Amino acid sequence: MPITVSESILSIAPYVPGKPIEELEREYGIKNAVKLASNENPLGASPGAVAAIEKSLGSLHRYPDSSAHALVRKLSAHLGVPPEAIVLGNGSDEIIVLLERLFLRPGDEVILPRPSFLMYDISVLSAGATPVSVPLKDLTVDLTEILRRVTPKTRMIFLCNPNNPTGTIVTKAAFDAFLAELPPDVIVVVDEAYIEFARDPECLRSVGYATTERPVVTLRTFSKAYGLAGLRVGYGVTSPEIAELLQRLRPPFNTSIPAQAGAAAALADREFLEKTLRVVHEGLDFLYSGLNRRSIRYFPTQANFFLIDTGRSADAVFEGMLREGVIVRSMTAYGYPDYIRINAGLPDENRRFLDALDRVLQ
Ligand SMILES: *Cc1c(COP(=O)(O)O)cnc(C)c1O
Repeated sequence: MPITVSESILSIAPYVPGKPIEELEREYGIKNAVKLASNENPLGASPGAVAAIEKSLGSLHRYPDSSAHALVRKLSAHLGVPPEAIVLGNGSDEIIVLLERLFLRPGDEVILPRPSFLMYDISVLSAGATPVSVPLKDLTVDLTEILRRVTPKTRMIFLCNPNNPTGTIVTKAAFDAFLAELPPDVIVVVDEAYIEFARDPECLRSVGYATTERPVVTLRTFSKAYGLAGLRVGYGVTSPEIAELLQRLRPPFNTSIPAQAGAAAALADREFLEKTLRVVHEGLDFLYSGLNRRSIRYFPTQANFFLIDTGRSADAVFEGMLREGVIVRSMTAYGYPDYIRINAGLPDENRRFLDALDRVLQ
């Protein structure tokens, strides 16, 4: 091919998503497969959101409101931050891409805990900047080591809280101590994709920093607790100054009319969110006790997913589970070749997971 791209782009390992249910059913001739691989909401979407999306379909010939006025107002009230602090994205993935495009130049360093969400690497490399990996300590983001790795080239730090794939958290106290040590011009991105599930009262919730002097960007999403992964709505919360810069780069119609309507309705549907949290927390507790009874090691979580140490090749367990019709995630690509990650499902899905695991591990 007579076309070349940068070395940085060539070094990107393509993102590997969880296996879609349809693909498994097609390849293995299985019906009623269970997917516990992508941390999705097992209850589906909020019925209020689905109704609002259906109602919005009469406007599909129109362009969406670029400012998403109604949704932004509702988020502003919900979060207690000014509307000017909020930037909507086509999923929070898009906010990550916009942040990298806005702030990173070749030669800049971005500190990433490892393992964490692989999208960070992809967007840092696509901006031609240099990812600096800091290994987790006891599966937890190591803030002390991150501070040690800061150099004059450090432009940005990603924290994922709770961390995907380990489910561990940064506490508010630890975060405040960290910020006090960090040079004030380093941008801190706190990805809170799973924050709604956290049960630990010490857990950092970072939207309040948008109204402080520090360049902190909180990422939130409708994809997980709100059950709208297929709709693609996420957002960043940050200072109005950073938000204004992000708005310049944001494609004007990056959230669709159904997406804006569905997200606004989902936010109002407290009942569905509470039901989701109940089902997920009960599901996690059920899975923990099932694994305890089997003496299988696992790592308790503050998210809706957790790691299980299978004591053997996670890729082999992944394959074995597929044949049982259960999709899990092998953690080999994340540096844990014996671990799988699953999210809490419905009660019947959780039982099927444990039964299938018994057959695969026997
Ligand atoms: C799922 C997930 C997201 C959400 O991405 P969307 O683009 O909003 O669907 C963001 N960060 C992490 C760590 C995730 O696991």
